[in-house]
Amino acid sequence: MTSCHVAEDPIKKVAIFGGTHGNELTGIFLVKHWLENSTEIQRRGLEVKPFITNPRAVKKCTRYIDCDLNRVFDPENLGKKKSEDLPYEVRKAQEINHLFGPIDSEDSYDIIFDLHNTTSNMGCTLILEDSRNDFLIQMFHYIKMSLAPLPCYVYLIEHPSLKYATTRSIAKYPVGIEVGPQPQGVLRADILDQMRKMIKHALDFIHNFNEGKEFPPCAIEVYKIMEKVDYPRNESGEIAAVIHPKLQDQDWKPLHPEDPVFLTLDGKTISLGGDQTVYPVFVNEAAYYEKKEAFAKTTKLTLNAKSIRSSLH
Ligand SMILES: [Zn+2]
Repeated sequence: MTSCHVAEDPIKKVAIFGGTHGNELTGIFLVKHWLENSTEIQRRGLEVKPFITNPRAVKKCTRYIDCDLNRVFDPENLGKKKSEDLPYEVRKAQEINHLFGPIDSEDSYDIIFDLHNTTSNMGCTLILEDSRNDFLIQMFHYIKMSLAPLPCYVYLIEHPSLKYATTRSIAKYPVGIEVGPQPQGVLRADILDQMRKMIKHALDFIHNFNEGKEFPPCAIEVYKIMEKVDYPRNESGEIAAVIHPKLQDQDWKPLHPEDPVFLTLDGKTISLGGDQTVYPVFVNEAAYYEKKEAFAKTTKLTLNAKSIRSSLH
């Protein structure tokens, strides 16, 4: 008998990270709850470890102490000689890499879910780093189907220069979960419920996979990053216009070349320009003002995954 599925190793170890950004409260709240009572995240034969990644930032309710923890998991920072002089987050990254990674090592974690909130109106968002990862495409397909009719979008950050060194990248299967809109330092019940469901469905998928279920070929729609767009700035580098009201809260909606994107104080509208319809994400994200990103342009495409089945069955 021939088989056309991709046989994957069963999943043994899963980590759920909260507090990578200390002012994104939903993941912090859930992870703290699961550290007290892990019943809802337990699945037979699976180790699931909830973990607060940036405790000092969480305590201060700030994004980070010295630098962004979600940007320092690159070989250079992870390989730096241990020293008290290193930024707090670089020391933390090395510790997290030691506990959960390094990637492809014998006892590293198979999957890391990293829980984030955005101030943008992005709803439930899954972040994918690699377009050829059949297992994650299958998982994301399962989560999307389970959440329906609630929409769940997939943001693909695969890009030669725009991809960044995420906290979750030390796992074979890195999963970013981003739910919004929610202000920094605030908990909203609707956002909490959505993130909790995303984790539930993800763990159910892993459980079904480990129990031998075969997942037939599938396809998902994803939004792939094209370019980050900065605010218009004056000669001193200060922001000279705000997100146009017609773009505010319009994440994932088609944005045409003639559509307005910025509005200046004297009422001048600045349109998108170019010759292509794009899909904006992270529109007016609070944390991205420092990163000079008013929104990101994405393009919509379909990813296909082969059938998968655990190699144990
Ligand atoms: Zn975040």
